Amino acid sequence: MIEMTDVSKTYPNGVTAISGLNVKIKQAEFVYVVGPSGAGKSTFIKMMYREEKPTKGNIIVNGLSLPKLRNAKVPIFRRNIGMVFQDFKLLQTLTIYENVAFAMEVIEKHPDEIKRRVMEVLNLVGLKHKVRMLPAELSGGEQQRVAIARSIVNSPKVVIADEPTGNLDPETSWEIMNIFEEINKRGTTVVMATHNKDIVNNMTHRVIAIENGKIVRDEQRGEYGYEI
Ligand code: ADP
Repeated sequence: MIEMTDVSKTYPNGVTAISGLNVKIKQAEFVYVVGPSGAGKSTFIKMMYREEKPTKGNIIVNGLSLPKLRNAKVPIFRRNIGMVFQDFKLLQTLTIYENVAFAMEVIEKHPDEIKRRVMEVLNLVGLKHKVRMLPAELSGGEQQRVAIARSIVNSPKVVIADEPTGNLDPETSWEIMNIFEEINKRGTTVVMATHNKDIVNNMTHRVIAIENGKIVRDEQRGEYGYEI
């Protein structure tokens, strides 16, 4: 369902972030992407949702070959991808409800379905009682819950998360991870770049370690493997 074949990425400034990388990730897997800063984790993740294109090789996600995908088709491709970021990326002038509903409105879902589904996912992340609030009125952990609700509202096959607990305290990070675990148990693939050693070592899943743009370790029930 995600397959990279001989993928390399050199940025226009000449920096090679990923080189000759091969990987396969199956439906319903949970994968941590770890490695030192500057190793290429973000680039690896960004290529999966077509934020960056490889300079060499092929990437197939949900049956689509991403290097060949026209820019105009990217929004359609991303309907089947949920994205969660370290800094939440919520729309500050919209309420919690509106932030999540927006993702369904842009694909013109029926208003009744939007209402039902938005409340369902906000209930799943434990925020049903805060739907009328603005993001700024919520804690960081709550804002990340909203971002997760938004990422899954259209029932994507894959959720890609880049350091989703990077701005959160340890306890809140665990709460957020339990939500990802629940989403994964329901059959959604989760690919997550993280520096959270405690989580990787205790909520065990497949671990892909990247160093200097290459996969240096790929273990089914792996460990974090770095000091920080
Ligand atoms: P990580 O997420 O592991 O910290 P990145 O993928 O962000 O690694 O970066 C890998 C390398 O690519 C680094 O040397 C970084 O400076 C470089 N890089 C990342 N993004 C860009 C960009 N947009 N333009 C040029 N170089 C970049």
